[in-house]
Amino acid sequence: MRIVLGGVRGSTPVSHPDFIQFGGATTCVMVDNDAGCQILIDAGSGLRTVEPMMTPTLPDQPLLMLFTHYHIDHLIGLPFFAPFYDPQRSVIFAAPPCGGTTPENAIGKLMNKTFWPVPFRAEHSFELLPTECGEPLRHGPFDVRWCPVHHANGCFAYRIDERDTGASMVLATDLELGSASAAEKDALLDFCRKPNNLDVLIMEGHCDSVAQPGWGHSTWQETVAFARAAGARQLFITHLAPEDDDTTLNKREQRIQSTMPQARLGRQGMIIPWSKNPEP
Ligand SMILES: [Zn+2]
Ligand SMILES: [Zn+2]
Repeated sequence: MRIVLGGVRGSTPVSHPDFIQFGGATTCVMVDNDAGCQILIDAGSGLRTVEPMMTPTLPDQPLLMLFTHYHIDHLIGLPFFAPFYDPQRSVIFAAPPCGGTTPENAIGKLMNKTFWPVPFRAEHSFELLPTECGEPLRHGPFDVRWCPVHHANGCFAYRIDERDTGASMVLATDLELGSASAAEKDALLDFCRKPNNLDVLIMEGHCDSVAQPGWGHSTWQETVAFARAAGARQLFITHLAPEDDDTTLNKREQRIQSTMPQARLGRQGMIIPWSKNPEP
């Protein structure tokens, strides 16, 4: 399993020399393997980062694109994604219904002529996942599971396990831990611990010390506490606030690592190779 962080910025892309080190692109995570089996989670502007890093897909293996939810920072890269228009490729868009919206509904609106001139290709397909994840969705060597999280209008965390290596990752972005009920937190902890302990947790930590109630986000302190409770071997904090520049984030990362050495802030383009014994 290889994990690529295409974009780690939250809410809106940013572009400025003070934001080079962590990057300005919004959420997109790619999980793939050497054989070209690929899963993308979310289609923020970070899709542009992962696109040149994608290996050709297998002829019988379409690209699987999952969505956590449909806030615009998680969709904005989609119309510009070249494989979307490549006749050799097909994409399966999959997600549970979120806030009353299906993937077909959300993408249909985005790719409507009002917002984008190029038509949607009929070769692509949609899969509406059940809200409750029972059996995992199989995609090549990967098992995909999902779990609802507390966020304005809903959101889902995804877990991907690679069957032959035992590698595992969870992306839990856009969640408000401070307003989540005990049952919601317990469900997410359980999700991170089963079927076995988690290697890589990629989790949002948008705010520093104080999170505005109802805005749907968590502080990095809450994220670190959750990762500790979940027993994640590595933590990458993402959905970084658009006003936080490299100087601010470098100082924050030092504070984070003083409390949890195996935690880091995510960086645009970062590759997380899976290993049984990751460097702390
Ligand atoms: Zn977001
Ligand atoms: Zn959101």
